[in-house]
Amino acid sequence: MVDSDLPIALALPKKRASLQSNVVWGSRTVTVGGGAPVRIQSMTNTDTADAIGTAIQVKELALAGSELVRITVNTPEAAQAVPYVREQLDRMGIDVPLIGDFHFNGHRLLTDFPECAQALSKYRINPGNVGKGDKRDRQFGQMIEAAVRWNKPIRIGVNWGSLDQELLASMMDENSKRTVPWDAKPVMYEALITSALESAARAQEMGLPAHQIMLSCKVSGVQDLIAVYRELGRRCDYPLHLGLTEAGMGTKGTVASAAALAVLLQDGIGDTIRVSLTPAPGEARTQEVVIASEIIQALGLRTFVPSVTACPGCGRTTSTTFQELTKQIDDFLRAQMPVWRASYPGVENLKVAVMGCIVNGPGESKHADIGISLPGTGEAPAAPVFIDGEKRMTLRGDSIATDFQAVVENYIQQRFGSAAVATPN
Ligand code: SF4
Repeated sequence: MVDSDLPIALALPKKRASLQSNVVWGSRTVTVGGGAPVRIQSMTNTDTADAIGTAIQVKELALAGSELVRITVNTPEAAQAVPYVREQLDRMGIDVPLIGDFHFNGHRLLTDFPECAQALSKYRINPGNVGKGDKRDRQFGQMIEAAVRWNKPIRIGVNWGSLDQELLASMMDENSKRTVPWDAKPVMYEALITSALESAARAQEMGLPAHQIMLSCKVSGVQDLIAVYRELGRRCDYPLHLGLTEAGMGTKGTVASAAALAVLLQDGIGDTIRVSLTPAPGEARTQEVVIASEIIQALGLRTFVPSVTACPGCGRTTSTTFQELTKQIDDFLRAQMPVWRASYPGVENLKVAVMGCIVNGPGESKHADIGISLPGTGEAPAAPVFIDGEKRMTLRGDSIATDFQAVVENYIQQRFGSAAVATPN
């Protein structure tokens, strides 16, 4: 029974109004917040003092789609290496902005190594790790002075694993004086947000413009992250960097990050994201970039690679052919993207369907730009191919996979190639 004549509302993501920061290197400006697309960030796990190794990994992350890359700057050797990392990247034509990640000694490194301060495009400052007591304000101030001097944006990155303990203790103390004290968790949430907002206010007092300040308050629990960021997003208009810290490995880390980030991004909260995945031994660091882009693309916020719709297979599937074909097409599309991005503008919007049998195969294939329905158990050994909703051919024999790949490539050339763009409709 329909109780109204109104159409069902689309599940459109909300938009949080935020200031816009520019993270700049050379002629490259990555806008963050203020209506810019949600940006993908990642972080190297190389020793930054190894400038070549770090530059190679930054390049890999950038080519995988990371629009900002953070590197650890933890020692004088690392700070000295930063300009060389930058130089290597510039030589390779990789203009991705570098963010320096500072803890404990950032005030000294940014002061003692001006070339490092200059080569970085943004500084990450953790207010829980800038010193204790009266040193805290002075050392934090030195880092803000460097940001003002070199005209760099900063991220005030609070993390519950390194939360300012003096602040937390004083807030716990105040809480105990409440008529009905809060549970420990809301006090911790409050301390995370207070640490970020008070540090941002201090940076502004020292002359850093509000739009040059980004905030993050990372925790490792999904519900905690959602609670903290909803409140942080409500209380300020700084651009927010979003990520589930210490997400873990493999499926667990991927699912937990996707669950937390999807809820917040749908609320319009999050201007840059990072998936903090622990790589499995031998796993490429770029996996965190792939997952971040998949989360953004799955929500329909941006498109990065052509999407492949595939059924899960079931008792009607005669063989692993459709699994192999799906993987082959997915790998092929991803591998080609660095080249196709330049040659075939708009190719990332392509939709391919690979289906296991006649039940949903033709229907799903017709909804894609190009789709194939493989033969299931008892079906004739033929695979109809649908292009732009019409059945155009039927593939047969042992070379269905390679034939279909050629059909996809041909379709891309015709639809997204320069001839296609030049031809008026
Ligand atoms: S399309 Fe066919 S093979 Fe795929 S899940 Fe549905 S019934 Fe099974």
